[in-house]
Amino acid sequence: MIQAKKKFGQNFLQDKSYINKIIESMPNNDNIIVEIGPGLGDLTEKLLQKNSLVAYEIDEDLCKILKDKFDNLELVCGDVLDSWQTGRLREKKYNLIANLPYYVATNIILKALNDENCENILVLIQKEVAQKFSAECGEKIHSGLSIIAHSVAEVEIKFEIPPTAFNPAPKVMSSVILFKKNRLKYDQDYAKFLKIAFSQPRKTLLKNLSQKYDKEFIKTIFNKINLKENIRPHQVSDKLFYEVFSELKGENENDTTTTNGKSSRK
Ligand code: SAM
Repeated sequence: MIQAKKKFGQNFLQDKSYINKIIESMPNNDNIIVEIGPGLGDLTEKLLQKNSLVAYEIDEDLCKILKDKFDNLELVCGDVLDSWQTGRLREKKYNLIANLPYYVATNIILKALNDENCENILVLIQKEVAQKFSAECGEKIHSGLSIIAHSVAEVEIKFEIPPTAFNPAPKVMSSVILFKKNRLKYDQDYAKFLKIAFSQPRKTLLKNLSQKYDKEFIKTIFNKINLKENIRPHQVSDKLFYEVFSELKGENENDTTTTNGKSSRK
């Protein structure tokens, strides 16, 4: 039996009933499947019965095992992030289906959300991270991540998986989450704006945005769209966030930058 490597986030899903539930939750189309981190190949075996599959595995020991086990698997041995340099992991449309390594799961999901060839993402991740991606306005954990995700996809938590289903067992609960994309990519400038908006989640949105933009101008925007000056970022709806962003962006396109680095009106 192979020793699981912590540094690669190896928690092998061994409970077959959950593997079957993942297969049942798969989107129904002819896209090729991309699996990141096939591990010992338990999920891979089922996926191969569904469609053609390309898998990316960082661990050389596991790559050897997978090559012996499967004749019909296209396997890329190495860090998947190295293959994503151009922004597109594959040249054809694909669905990403995987039990992701937790240490890099958020990064991988953001890359896939911004990859125009990725149409659906069905992944097993830490429950807490799944909740962050799916949170709605008003929830304490509503964040830039959920706004970005909802700007390009329908997001749905399918079911939870307890630690006992894995070997070794992780310390936390896991969830399977589905992102059905309805837009190809998200707006990078919007993502940067949201990072500033949520930089200190417990502070007001006005305070956070004032780090980068002119405070008086933000106040006029808030006034125009009926946002209270003491509102916190998690209380603002996706729609209003986009309105604030659009107003600031419109302004930025014909403004000057002051000596303190903040944008100001001409
Ligand atoms: N799919 C298997 C399962 O469900 O049992 C293994 C899942 S395990 C949580 C994560 C897998 O991702 C491991 O096989 C690990 O070696 C692999 N991995 C970790 N980081 C990776 C990376 N950057 N690129 C590709 N594979 C990676």
